[in-house]
Amino acid sequence: MAVLNFLHVLRRPVGRRYFSNVGFVGLGNMGNYMATNLIKKGYKLTVYDVNKTAMKNLIEAGAIEAKSAAELSKNSQVVITMLPTNDHVWDSYTGKDGLLSTAKKDTLFIDSSTIDPSVSQKVSVETIKNGAKFIDGPVSGGVVGARDATLTFMVGGEKSEYERAKSLLEAMGSRVVHCGDVGMGQVAKLCNNMLLAISMIGVSEVVNLADRLGLDPKVMTSILNTSTGRCWSSEIYPPVPGIISTVPSSNDYQGGFMTSLMTKDLGLAQAAATRSNTPIPLGSLAHQIYRILMTHGLKDKDFSIVYKYLKQSNYNN
Ligand code: NAD
Repeated sequence: MAVLNFLHVLRRPVGRRYFSNVGFVGLGNMGNYMATNLIKKGYKLTVYDVNKTAMKNLIEAGAIEAKSAAELSKNSQVVITMLPTNDHVWDSYTGKDGLLSTAKKDTLFIDSSTIDPSVSQKVSVETIKNGAKFIDGPVSGGVVGARDATLTFMVGGEKSEYERAKSLLEAMGSRVVHCGDVGMGQVAKLCNNMLLAISMIGVSEVVNLADRLGLDPKVMTSILNTSTGRCWSSEIYPPVPGIISTVPSSNDYQGGFMTSLMTKDLGLAQAAATRSNTPIPLGSLAHQIYRILMTHGLKDKDFSIVYKYLKQSNYNN
């Protein structure tokens, strides 16, 4: 124990630290790396996940194991949650033995899951009833960004809480942006991902058309990238295999951002648009296209698989 404490002192981060006891809930593909980075930067970390094996690596790296969300919350000044869906977040905060059942006054809760902004706002209301504080801080950058601590955090909540959280989030990311009130981090995240889905489908569609008309898809992609059609999906993350060796399309669409997660985010954007009476014709269509990909057994493939799907859907193949 004394050796562990000594290690924590050695790894103590530079810069202002508001928190000495940090809790982390949800140690999956993203949370596992994010929590590891907090340990590497010298934070004293308590972890909890319903899946015991997900906690193993963290405990070996020096994290303290909590037996429940309630136990973790009781011993933490700040708690980060990184959970799959709306229901997981709501239950984890408000359920029996949930985080809020033992929350202390002024404990700061940061939810980095991607969920519906209205759920973030409801969780915030419940948190405040318990005398604690809540901000949403969803991320972009994917598993690689989580591993390399280069995530972008989109934060919604009081400015003072954003300031309090900033140095902690910087231990896991390279950019921390205050977007506005609670829920606005989720709004930023959902809007960005909706545009990403639309642009990926758009690039895939035109490159497939060019191919069918006799133009090499690699040449078409290079033309896009020096023309007005250029975008992140054409330039940095092309869906055509063999243009950039490190992107998922060049590795049979493995790794990257799964079709199931993109479909989930588009569903959240659709729900938010319906609630606010906002027309999102292209977003809705993108949602349906990704839902179709799901029915074709492509849920675990990177979302750029839409190119391969369109290509295989050609007549007279
Ligand atoms: P994941 O499914 O790999 O991990 C989620 C973890 O939460 C699992 O270990 C699971 O056991 C745990 N969990 C579920 N319910 C729990 C509960 N009640 N208490 C404690 N632990 C619980 O998911 P992920 O890929 O790490 O994504 C997490 C969130 O981040 C999602 O909302 C996702 O949309 C978002 N996100 C993911 C990526 C990505 O590339 N994977 C990128 C950006 C944002």
